[in-house]
Amino acid sequence: MENQKNCIFCKIIKGEIPSYKIYEDENTLAFLDIKPLSKGHVLVIPKKHVEYLNELDEETAKEVMGIIPKIASAVISQEGVEGWNLLSNNGKFSGQEIFHIHFHIIPRRNKDGLGY
Ligand code: ADP
Repeated sequence: MENQKNCIFCKIIKGEIPSYKIYEDENTLAFLDIKPLSKGHVLVIPKKHVEYLNELDEETAKEVMGIIPKIASAVISQEGVEGWNLLSNNGKFSGQEIFHIHFHIIPRRNKDGLGY
């Protein structure tokens, strides 16, 4: 697996930084966001280190994006919510801060103040 030395998410994949994992398979990892925008906020990442979604190969994209419905279903039932947002920031002007592709799954609740 390709890792990048100073990437926080590669370190999480390797177990060098602790995380609360909620799903893992050969190519994909999902774990709780350390600064959740709402309770149950999860990040889904490919284990392969690629900075931007637009640079990801089709096979890996299918694997990581294909598992999102299953992970979202687990988040929905765990948190008892009916709504959620899927977000991926790509590039510094988009708000991306960690340059390893990730999808935010953000549970939404009535009047949670996050806007839409
Ligand atoms: P933003 O911080 O603007 O949302 P990103 O889209 O790059 O930018 O998201 C990075 C996410 O990674 C943030 O939600 C942040 O809270 C989360 N994060 C940073 N470090 C860790 C960590 N060690 N464990 C879990 N989540 C982390």
